[in-house]
Amino acid sequence: MTPEVQAHVRGSAALFDRAKSVIPGGVNSPVRAFNAVGGTPRFMVNGLGAYLWDADDNRYVDLVSSWGPMVLGHAHPAVVEAVRAAAVNGLSFGTPTAGEVDLAEEIIRRVAPVRRVRLVNSGTEATMSAIRLARGFTGRKRVVKFAGCYHGHVDALLAEAGSGVATLGLPTTPGVTGAQAEDTLVLPYNDLDAVRAAFAEHGDTIAAVITEAAAGNMGAVAPVEGFNQGLREITEAHGALLIMDEVMTGFRVSAGGWYGLEGVEGDLYTFGKVMSGGLPAAAFGGREDVMGHLAPAGPVYQAGTLSGNPVAVAAGLATLRAADADVYRALDDNATRLGALLTSALSKAGVAHRVQFAGNLVSVFFTEDPVVDYAGAKAAQTWRFPPFFHALLDQGVYAPPSAFEAWFVSAALDDSAFEQIEAALPAAAAAAAAAAAAAAEEKA
Ligand code: PLP
Repeated sequence: MTPEVQAHVRGSAALFDRAKSVIPGGVNSPVRAFNAVGGTPRFMVNGLGAYLWDADDNRYVDLVSSWGPMVLGHAHPAVVEAVRAAAVNGLSFGTPTAGEVDLAEEIIRRVAPVRRVRLVNSGTEATMSAIRLARGFTGRKRVVKFAGCYHGHVDALLAEAGSGVATLGLPTTPGVTGAQAEDTLVLPYNDLDAVRAAFAEHGDTIAAVITEAAAGNMGAVAPVEGFNQGLREITEAHGALLIMDEVMTGFRVSAGGWYGLEGVEGDLYTFGKVMSGGLPAAAFGGREDVMGHLAPAGPVYQAGTLSGNPVAVAAGLATLRAADADVYRALDDNATRLGALLTSALSKAGVAHRVQFAGNLVSVFFTEDPVVDYAGAKAAQTWRFPPFFHALLDQGVYAPPSAFEAWFVSAALDDSAFEQIEAALPAAAAAAAAAAAAAAEEKA
């Protein structure tokens, strides 16, 4: 094929072949490659409401929602109009703009412990900056994180991380130096005794505990009653900061994120996804005295050419403004409805499973035991997931291509989308059950 002809090949399989020759693994973020489920990743061409269309013109009910941001569904008219209006005024100035102030005020209005906000370009940048600020503020070096929690690809936070790191089965990654790994204490999620023990041994060197406000990157694993409050008390007693990572939960599980549901106050927060409306924007924020250490107000350096980009800010603001009480009710109802359909189909097929929720994040674990930590998530029969996933995909239902990822509903899912999901589930459940039979035969 000549390059000219090749450039016009547009189906997913052909695009993936082209992509692999110019992009490592053919994708710009590992979980998109379908490594954990096999097969060809779908190259999406457009999205509208609850649906996506791929390069072969197949339509899917979208249960990934761009990994969280698209709470309103795709191409919501108010967001598209806000982006268009911002774009015609210029794409980037490298100066302050009014929209940044509006977005910071909107975040502060929704999450009371956040008194100052700095905008960045990705969730990774938000957590990286929050960790640097916590170290700069406390003068300490160690950070506590929890196994199975993912905070972006920050060097210090990749140990036993969830999301794509869990999907690929990596304990950590080459390229992260020993010093960074040594400064990170990795503890089991939902285990306050482990946190107390770590502080008893290292308390005066721990700058911060960072936790997903509710874990969504090993599947949906909510904090057990008292866990986040316990983290609040332990960190406070030892002069360490509590960083609540709400990149996934923020402005999705309620208007005020997980904080809005639970009310445990962190010192610093990280946000992304929903507040960006699907464009590259994220934020970190928190206590006035801590944020006051950030340059130019204070000595801890942090910056960005495109930070607070006017088009991204417009998309985020329009999304937050459109996300009213009806939207949050719809998100919760849709998560409940999806969970009930999953439970019903898998129960009918006799597949051992648990559908878990963290707010309106949903996931399916192929185990009967409640999953409260990463060890539990890894102990599930994850080998049932690929055939389950592909049976859904073949019937036009796009679930996350990994057993370790949460499913994200949008408010745009309507009765006909749910009818399609319901119709697809029996075959998917049967495929999950058949995977069990195959594994049992292998054993025998
Ligand atoms: N923190 C959490 C809880 C996340 O779920 C993610 C991404 O999924 C990140 C941080 C990193 O965000 P980004 O992918 O925008 O760098």
